[in-house]
Amino acid sequence: MGDLPRKGREVLVVRNIGCLVTGNPWKSPQGDDPWKSPQGDDPKRGDALGLLTDAALIAADHLVSWYGPQAEMPAVPLGTQILDAHGNAVLPGLIDCHTHLVHVGDRSGEFALRARGQTYLEIAAAGGGIMATVRAVRAASEEHLVETALPRLRRALARGVTTIEIKSGYGLTVDDELKMLRAMRSLSARQPVEIVPTFLGAHTVPTEHRGRPDRYVELLVRDLLPQVAAQRLARFCDVYVEQSAFSVAQARTILTAAREHGLEPRLHTDQFNALGGCALAAELQAVSADHLEAARPRDIRALRRADVVAVIMPLCEVYLGRGRPAPGRALADAGLRVAVASDFNPGSANCEDLAVAATLAVSRCKLTVEEALLGITRHAATALGRDDLGRLHVGAQCDLVLLDTPSPVRVVSDMGANHVDRVVKAGRLVHSRDG
Ligand SMILES: [Zn+2]
Repeated sequence: MGDLPRKGREVLVVRNIGCLVTGNPWKSPQGDDPWKSPQGDDPKRGDALGLLTDAALIAADHLVSWYGPQAEMPAVPLGTQILDAHGNAVLPGLIDCHTHLVHVGDRSGEFALRARGQTYLEIAAAGGGIMATVRAVRAASEEHLVETALPRLRRALARGVTTIEIKSGYGLTVDDELKMLRAMRSLSARQPVEIVPTFLGAHTVPTEHRGRPDRYVELLVRDLLPQVAAQRLARFCDVYVEQSAFSVAQARTILTAAREHGLEPRLHTDQFNALGGCALAAELQAVSADHLEAARPRDIRALRRADVVAVIMPLCEVYLGRGRPAPGRALADAGLRVAVASDFNPGSANCEDLAVAATLAVSRCKLTVEEALLGITRHAATALGRDDLGRLHVGAQCDLVLLDTPSPVRVVSDMGANHVDRVVKAGRLVHSRDG
């Protein structure tokens, strides 16, 4: 049953949970008292979410210490904080595992240009796109980056996001990349959403290095990576493999060096063109391969062989208004864990709403609703290399979303609605709709 809370520990109880989404359909959380799903274990049918009805949950010292049927809840110490879920659904805290949330500037003009027929790659080639944001970020102070990001994180929290990955990649000089990553560290200290920082110095070849991309790769490897690692500013290193960005060979050089510095590799790949990034992700045992709209069957097989998490970001394809959706159904049918992320950024997915990304993962990429919910919880945690997040088990960090409805499906089905009533991060109530 897990550890019962002892006196002196910080304890939180959530009771009257109509439907608890544990994210554990395949094994019992209760050890010697297993509960079996009557519908079986197939994630495409039945209880893929590990649902428990009429449940309660106890957190002690920030971790889940017990959950199960409310009728079997053990006694808790006097003075314990108790949250009443009022018969509604409770989920693990949502995880947005791919964002570019730290940015400044205005690229709404590009939206208008695309409406007149220009493509993303044409706008990038003309000096817009990522480089437009790079110019704005280079001109901004670290404090300004922090101040503009704080309200975005508050809105993410109000939508149930308790952990968020944020990439650098709008600085593209030593000083400006470090400035972005320091801004993320500062944001971590100033609000409750947990930030997982990723170094994306290889987002695009900056204008001053155009025509000599290998010189820029050398700068990244020789000058930037050692400083990022020494200052412990990032957990992951990402490279954008695309015709407008970096080749597979350049990505291999950067990510191999990153691993030597202790940064785990992940890739933006197969967004517009399949250049072999999936095979590289498999070769390097990358933690995730993200985008995948152009992935071919052999790319999917490569990811499967190496058990790389596939991250799909349907807001991007919808926002750009052309191209094709990521092959979510084929990825899931191949046995891959499919995470769903917002890719929130000012140019190609200017939308912060992870739940809408989950809706589109169903309507555009043909995931089931259960797969989409796992995509923004359990599989998103795996895409960040975290086993203590995204699902509820004894010893997991107690990150919870308390909804205003008994049905967790409505997070995905009610497009644009926000059913989040309260949010718990590490065993503490950090957001309430009532304030
Ligand atoms: Zn991205």
